[in-house]
Amino acid sequence: MKKRNTILLLGIFSIIILITAQIIIIRGVWEQKDEMFNLRYRLFSQDALDVMDRQWGTDGFDTARILIGVKSEMVLKELASLKKDSLTAREKEDLFKYVTLVLNKEQDLSQWLSRFFERRGIDKDFNSKIVINRFELINYDLRIPVYISEEFANRRPPQQRDTLRRAGQPPGRMRQPRRTSEILVKRYGNETNSYRLDFEYLIDFSDKQKIILRETAASLALSTFSILLVVILFLITYKNLMEEKRLSNLKTDFINNMTHELKTPLSTITVAGKTLELPMIRTNEAKILETAKLIGKQSVHLNQLINMILEISMWERTQFQLEKKKVKIEEFMNDIVESFKSGCGNCASLTQKYNFNGASLDLDTIYFTTLINNLLSNAVKYADKDPVIEIEGFAEDSNVCIKVADNGIGISKNDQKHIFDKFYRASTGNIHKYKGLGLGLYYVKKIAEAHGGDVTVSSKPGKGSIFTVTIPY
Ligand code: ADP
Repeated sequence: MKKRNTILLLGIFSIIILITAQIIIIRGVWEQKDEMFNLRYRLFSQDALDVMDRQWGTDGFDTARILIGVKSEMVLKELASLKKDSLTAREKEDLFKYVTLVLNKEQDLSQWLSRFFERRGIDKDFNSKIVINRFELINYDLRIPVYISEEFANRRPPQQRDTLRRAGQPPGRMRQPRRTSEILVKRYGNETNSYRLDFEYLIDFSDKQKIILRETAASLALSTFSILLVVILFLITYKNLMEEKRLSNLKTDFINNMTHELKTPLSTITVAGKTLELPMIRTNEAKILETAKLIGKQSVHLNQLINMILEISMWERTQFQLEKKKVKIEEFMNDIVESFKSGCGNCASLTQKYNFNGASLDLDTIYFTTLINNLLSNAVKYADKDPVIEIEGFAEDSNVCIKVADNGIGISKNDQKHIFDKFYRASTGNIHKYKGLGLGLYYVKKIAEAHGGDVTVSSKPGKGSIFTVTIPY
């Protein structure tokens, strides 16, 4: 038991390790693909920029720079007329907004890149973005900071960092957050008489995840498949382990039940034998006869039990050997039920209702009698009040159906799944309230199947059970 649990825990632990390892590997592959994607597009973009430079003699921002130059000069003139050498936060923000707008609107790069990518037959669905790092107005020696990004300040040597930060501390609204999926195409920087501008041109592919997913699909599918396979194998092994445990429990129960079943007639015979030794009994002929009968009855019972066990172990090795003969099913059923009734001393109220239309069946009469007897004796055995048994039979299509319904203790849904299994006894385990070996219904099922038919059960605990035997004819 302990060993089984350890194996189980080890199995679960290994699966968790396997899944974690696979996730780490997949993440690694994904990151690698992502980097390769960025690198590829950065190289393509730089290729495109070179071609642009050669063909147009521009980097795509000429118009924007002229407009920014004009605006800067205007602002500088205004400052000069007001004799001021700095800007208010509001003025800085307006100017920053203007520069951002102009850079985005007046650039030719996005269109150029898009056409360039298209001609190469690669993905052209990207969003472009311009991130300004530094913008200063220049008036001879005077530099008037408008905007310096935190990131840009961090890139400078430490001694410059604080002054830069203080000078161009951007208000919240001017922050331009960058996403990790963005690809930096190029950094631009230029200085004229009136301004200094540093910015970056970035592109971001909306389809990037999809493209990478397509590229990693094979390895992704393979790892998912291998994980699934291992989990399925584990579950199958676990199920088998549980089944094995169930069977071993059943066997233990069976041995206990069998010992009990065999002991009862044996001890009766022993006691009877001892009784016969008594001198006062030996003179009483009636008593001798009674005891002998008792010994005979118990021996027959013992013999039946042993035969049943032997027969079942024989079925395991060989096929059922049926000796079939044609019988009129209605007459045959009547005979079985009547002899059962007298055999058990009218132990139950038995009613029969048949509609076989004179059907004849090929049956092994001995086995089939055992089948019906087992169902009837169970109906009597598993009763908590006076047993009322209704036997119904009819012919439909190419089958003959026989139903045995009782008003007994019934069978729970879970037990219904197993009652036809060898040695299975519903929840009672080896409790001897209802005697038995858990073989009766197994026998019934085997016999029905040997005749090409089947047996099913429907039952409600506390209400009773209906067993239906179907035999083709
Ligand atoms: P046994 O009667 O020797 O235990 P069976 O194979 O005949 O073995 O039956 C298996 C189990 O099915 C029984 O232990 C009992 O719990 C349940 N069972 C069978 N027939 C009935 C019935 N008519 N009503 C209620 N329970 C039944």
